[in-house]
Amino acid sequence: MLLNMLTITGAEKIVIDETTEATGTLHVEAGGVVDHPVHGETIDVSGCIITPGLVNAHHHLLQSAFRTLPGTRGVVMSEWLPTMAAAYARAGVDAELANAAAAVGIAEGLLSGVTTVADHHLTWPAGADTVAIATATADAAAALGGRLVFVRGSARDDPQEAAASTEEIITALLPRTVDGMLQLAVGPAGVHSDSRETFELMAEVAAKHGLRRRTQANEQVDVAIALERYGMRPLDVLDEWGWLEPGVTIAHLCDVTDGEIARLAASGVTATHAPGCDLPMGWGIAPVAALRAAGITVGLGTSGGGSNDAGHLLADARLAMQVAPLVGPPIAARQVLGMAMAGSALGLGRPELGNLRVGSAGDLCVWDVSGVADAGVADPVAGLLWASPGRRPRHVVVAGQVVVRDYQLVYADERTLVESLRRRLHQQDRL
Ligand SMILES: [Zn+2]
Repeated sequence: MLLNMLTITGAEKIVIDETTEATGTLHVEAGGVVDHPVHGETIDVSGCIITPGLVNAHHHLLQSAFRTLPGTRGVVMSEWLPTMAAAYARAGVDAELANAAAAVGIAEGLLSGVTTVADHHLTWPAGADTVAIATATADAAAALGGRLVFVRGSARDDPQEAAASTEEIITALLPRTVDGMLQLAVGPAGVHSDSRETFELMAEVAAKHGLRRRTQANEQVDVAIALERYGMRPLDVLDEWGWLEPGVTIAHLCDVTDGEIARLAASGVTATHAPGCDLPMGWGIAPVAALRAAGITVGLGTSGGGSNDAGHLLADARLAMQVAPLVGPPIAARQVLGMAMAGSALGLGRPELGNLRVGSAGDLCVWDVSGVADAGVADPVAGLLWASPGRRPRHVVVAGQVVVRDYQLVYADERTLVESLRRRLHQQDRL
């Protein structure tokens, strides 16, 4: 891709970060936002709001191929898991499927304003070429111009094999992480699925390479299984296994006590809220206001298509805002937007993402707020969430590159991505 320089002018408002807004002109070079005029293209964005690119802190991109799957809605986790597993087995998870599903999920994200997505990949069939699966996922993001955090997950995998595969993936992909477009992390699915050995071995690999760690905890099933298996709640187990530490991000956290919130805050972990998964799965609502009040950095994620059929982070920001008063004080639109920006980015250890301060990476979205869905809106920044559900950005820029222009992908044809995934899934049906 060509290095680009952009002058973006005429915006009604520029959201710099959760608490700072500006008007005027934004100057972006390939390296990020600068405070001086640049050459290159000028884009007029009259009637629009500019925000930082959104960061989806928790996705399972493979599940984009398995949305609204019969038998996965309105069922308990003990039914959901084998139904999904059977679908994976039937389709045959390999590099080709990982690439096609990731391309669809990443494209959907870019078209809805997500410039960085963390893909917690949990499905590694026996004998699969795990490096090829990870590489194919990274290739999908690179081809579209989006940033990817590939989280080498584990779910009931053999601990030694999982650790060896993680090391191989890191060795293969680490050279591709230098420009910040790809990041690697590790993450067992949770104490309900993975053993102490897996958590410890994954932590060793992470420490060796300086990677972040990510896991999931305190959905209902996780709590029930931890109590049954270990006689402890999941956070006690994670603490004992050395996973309540800075550099760890925990998704879901629906069922947490006041004492656990204080403990999470003291430990330095960060959190990811995923209401678009937690609500339909019946897991409850994470007490986000209380987590934030305790000083915990909270990001936002969609989770995957197996539980949340839309990888639309702004829609889930709206949902987070709407359900917050059911479990505590309301959360303001700007705060939830902040979770989808810097909240997610800081959990990934990426302070250059999720804001548009001078020196930031230059990932941004241009939202047209001049249509009827925003007419009469007194506060257009709050309106980004409150008004026009399912809105899409007109333009999206990643590292100074326009990757979505006038609601269309720049580096791929949307229909071609859909067709590739459809063909790959149907090919399996005929076997
Ligand atoms: Zn999840």
